Amino acid sequence: MNDIPLHQTGLDPEDWSQTRALGHRMLDDMIDWLASSRDRPVWQRMPDEKRAELRVPVPAGGQPMAEIYEDFRRLVLPYSSANEHPRMMGWVNGGGNAAGYLAEILTAIFNVNCGGRDHAAIEVERQVIAWAAEMVGLPPQTTGVLLTGSSMANMVAVLVARRAALGEEVRTQGLGAARLTAYASSAAHGCIPRALDMAGIGSDALRLVPAGPDYRMDMSALRTMVAADRAAGLRPFLVVGTAGTVDTGAIDDLGAIAGIARGAGLWFHVDGAFGATAAVSPRFRPLLAGIEEADSVAFDFHKWAQVPYDAGCVLVRHPDLHIRTFAQSLAYLTHAERGLAGNPPWPRDLGPDLSREFRALKVWMTLKAYGTQGIAGVVETGCDVARYLAARIAREPTLELLAPVTLNIVCFRVASGAQDLNALNHEIVVRLQETGIAAPSTTTIDGKLAIRAALFNHRTVCADADALIDGVLALSSSRTK
Ligand SMILES: *Cc1c(COP(=O)(O)O)cnc(C)c1O
Repeated sequence: MNDIPLHQTGLDPEDWSQTRALGHRMLDDMIDWLASSRDRPVWQRMPDEKRAELRVPVPAGGQPMAEIYEDFRRLVLPYSSANEHPRMMGWVNGGGNAAGYLAEILTAIFNVNCGGRDHAAIEVERQVIAWAAEMVGLPPQTTGVLLTGSSMANMVAVLVARRAALGEEVRTQGLGAARLTAYASSAAHGCIPRALDMAGIGSDALRLVPAGPDYRMDMSALRTMVAADRAAGLRPFLVVGTAGTVDTGAIDDLGAIAGIARGAGLWFHVDGAFGATAAVSPRFRPLLAGIEEADSVAFDFHKWAQVPYDAGCVLVRHPDLHIRTFAQSLAYLTHAERGLAGNPPWPRDLGPDLSREFRALKVWMTLKAYGTQGIAGVVETGCDVARYLAARIAREPTLELLAPVTLNIVCFRVASGAQDLNALNHEIVVRLQETGIAAPSTTTIDGKLAIRAALFNHRTVCADADALIDGVLALSSSRTK
């Protein structure tokens, strides 16, 4: 039998030189796009005609890559989510970095499956987890896994805590009659109730502990609520401390929570989605005191540490419990002593995913390229710009700061010139986004709609903070005339 000619098999190109040339061009174009971000509007809405252009039936035949790339340049690239831009100040968004995006090219072509088995990428991930544990101060035996983000990382921690509370049976029998309760501050992220929901415990099982005037969890309220639930026959099992709340950047008193958790036999989890990154800064590390006592920590490399999306991380202090929460013995995947199927435990024994991309490479390269000092520099600059912004707000008679600035988040508003200040400030934020001047987001602080500037992008400087305030003032005077 004649073999099939090589050039007729599979999807590889017949002529690699065209692929190579197009790849080089894409990289050049994207670096130009990134380098010129400051010169364009922060955000542009994708026009309806272009959205409509995407809606076509699934292609039956192929199309040259160069044409598809033109579609990308025309239909996708101009309408980014804006997080590459120095005046992106909304939500909690990382800006990416060169070591990270170059790593992504390698990851895509290397294309290894990181669910497990005996290969180098697994070792790179283990190293990244060891570094992560070292950065937040957890002990060397800590296990962990990279996930899409802190939503999943918090979810994994809830499942390990659930396993710790109820034992092996919970995995096969479910919750049964156990009435578990968990505790987090009222400023905790929405993914915490969602994790309890997804874990079958139910979001009502999450007790929202009031936050004090500093937006940190009230410790005596926590003690009272745990005792009341226990007296009512419920089973408190988990307390979540937040290291960096989304609204204001407040950091719970993690040391105090650790003490209460120990006394009450609760699992102590820290949601440090962005705030845990501040542990690498000698200046901010003291604010996180107590994180090193956590049973588990969730955080993101894709936020303050600027690793390209997505890169979440969960760390668990108790390797055995962690593995016993996820490991299964699927016959066709049982670990071998030798060969490609060896090298346990695998990432798939530590989290919900089997097939996984090589997320660890971009984290490994980012940490090697900048070191913890480089990341600390990003953290400290963001906090300095936030302080500069708060000082400018204090000098502007029509503006009002709405919450203390702990880290890099500044909540303020235009405090005069309209009956309905909430509507006015909301409109100002939308206009800032639509005109492309800057992209803060909004939040509600004590019933007041706040303009929320979160300085996460490593490209943001004090002039960008001034551009935001100049924009706010110009829009508010034009609205209130
Ligand atoms: C962003 C964030 C999350 C969710 O993380 P994702 O990576 O978006 O899933 C959870 N908690 C806090 C405090 C956050 O800032």
